[in-house]
Amino acid sequence: MNKPDCPLCLADGGAVLWRDAACRVVLADEPDYPGFLRVILNTHVKEMTDLPPIEQAAVMRVVFAAEAALREVMQPDKINLASLGNVVPHLHWHVIPRFADDPHFPNPVWGQKSAHGKRHAVPQAEALRAQLAQSLTRRLAPAPETESPSQKAAQ
Ligand SMILES: [Zn+2]
Repeated sequence: MNKPDCPLCLADGGAVLWRDAACRVVLADEPDYPGFLRVILNTHVKEMTDLPPIEQAAVMRVVFAAEAALREVMQPDKINLASLGNVVPHLHWHVIPRFADDPHFPNPVWGQKSAHGKRHAVPQAEALRAQLAQSLTRRLAPAPETESPSQKAAQ
């Protein structure tokens, strides 16, 4: 059910790198944090426990694929996962690559900037976007129909 006053019901919330019927992965527009991903439910749901278990698992599969894609493409020092939604109570997960020399490290990206704060060197924006989209698509491809060796032998 979509809400007319909810920004994540009205718009994608960033450049869409991948989507299916349940959710989408967007590259957030966060200049200090290239590679900042959000996994956003397509329907207006407030909490993970509003979803049936099978849908909770499907969402987390996408969150972990986003984490794995960031690790592959950017080799961050740490990944931060967060689901807050205090401002926009439409279920979304922040998947944030963190670097020891990023503007807030070791604080959360929403916390106080650290003294050393600088922007980490990352691939150029278009290349980063393409590499992340490619990694997500590969990781979230439907599992191929698998046959066990015994089933094959029985045919
Ligand atoms: Zn919404």
